[in-house]
Amino acid sequence: DVFSRIDSVESTVKAYITETRESALNQAAAVDGKLARGESIAPLAGIPGALKDNICVKGAKTTCASKMLANFVPPYDATVTAKLLSADAVIVGKSNLDEFAMGSSTENSAFFVTRNPWDTNTVPGGSSGGSAAAVAAGEAIWALGSDTGGSIRQPAAYCGLVGLKPTYGLVSRYGLVAYASSLDQIGSITRDVTDCALVMNAIAGYDAKDSTSINAAVPDYTAALAGGVKGLTIGLPREYFGAGMDSAVRQAVETAVKQLESAGATVKEVSMPNTEYALSTYYLIATAEASSNLARFDGVSYGFRGEGNDIVSMYKNSRTQGFGDEVLRRIMLGTYALSSGYYDAYYMKALKVRTLIKQDFDRAFADVDILATPTTPRTAFRIGEKVNDPFTMYLEDVCTVPINLAGVPALSLPCGFTGGLPIGLQLIGRPLGEETLLRAGYAYE
Ligand code: GLN
Repeated sequence: DVFSRIDSVESTVKAYITETRESALNQAAAVDGKLARGESIAPLAGIPGALKDNICVKGAKTTCASKMLANFVPPYDATVTAKLLSADAVIVGKSNLDEFAMGSSTENSAFFVTRNPWDTNTVPGGSSGGSAAAVAAGEAIWALGSDTGGSIRQPAAYCGLVGLKPTYGLVSRYGLVAYASSLDQIGSITRDVTDCALVMNAIAGYDAKDSTSINAAVPDYTAALAGGVKGLTIGLPREYFGAGMDSAVRQAVETAVKQLESAGATVKEVSMPNTEYALSTYYLIATAEASSNLARFDGVSYGFRGEGNDIVSMYKNSRTQGFGDEVLRRIMLGTYALSSGYYDAYYMKALKVRTLIKQDFDRAFADVDILATPTTPRTAFRIGEKVNDPFTMYLEDVCTVPINLAGVPALSLPCGFTGGLPIGLQLIGRPLGEETLLRAGYAYE
């Protein structure tokens, strides 16, 4: 069971910030009770999973891997938490992440580094690295992450798992600590596509507590699985196969696409000319929104409070001591992009380019049903390799950030190995095209 796995590997993997074993055992016992009384149970009933530690669970610490929230205990459940608990799923712990979900390696956690179970000298990816490592190591059967620019898909790829970033608005963000609100989306990390569909069945759907929630009926995602890929057209956007990509990654993705073709899909090349601007656009918009979202951490109403004889020095000390370097860097970048002298040149420009990127997707989806790309240009890197070089770290996100800018869904699937490390295939869908993605993913695996 997951507890004996946790007991044997957690001291090496370090996936969890907080274990919630006691409440997990109570939740499991409640399911046993239902079974003993002959009551029917939901598919996830009794199945243990992990929540990224930026998703609120009432009564359990939610730290965002930050000193700022090291002792924060939310008085409420996130909507996804409430939905999972009402489906009788069992929550075994809160998993590690890059502080406030800012990063691609989980090395920005204020507490400790999580290791990739495939090679413990490498990172599990990020920012949902604890969630991915927990599932890969058998310390959880499913996990939730949040994906602002790749934080579900990239760790899923690095850890050989299935990760879904749903359509923006399909899964409620209520109770997810905000990083960049127009990009953030909660989704699942699982071992296979069937588990992904089961978790989506539990968490998707309209929520009046999230003003960006989509008010549409949610299908049964498991019903879509067996549809096959006959009749689907898959587009290969040539801009995603550019320089800087590992040749083994490119080959694995091309082989996967060939397999989908022999299973009945039609494959064609497409062009998405604004792709090259996505990374800079993302890092302007994400940091701008982050600087605004993180303004609430002032030492007064939440979390860590620094010393100070007056209110300004108290604010200053709370924020400089409570936040880590990467978070401070992003607050400064975002504040700069939003400042009156630079707003038009940076933030406003980025919003316009975001529209152009979205139009690339609209145009492509007029012609194809899904797009296939690598999830990341390379496989998991060594711990410490990029931590002092934020720019090369940001480059890891080149294939994942355009999807969040466009608000469309994307699924990362394991598609082989190189040098003993897993490779990820990314399938991108139309808005609310999750069923098509799951169908293609199921046909592939
Ligand atoms: N790596 C990206 C960033 O640092 C994405 C993070 C995320 O999706 N939360 O912003």
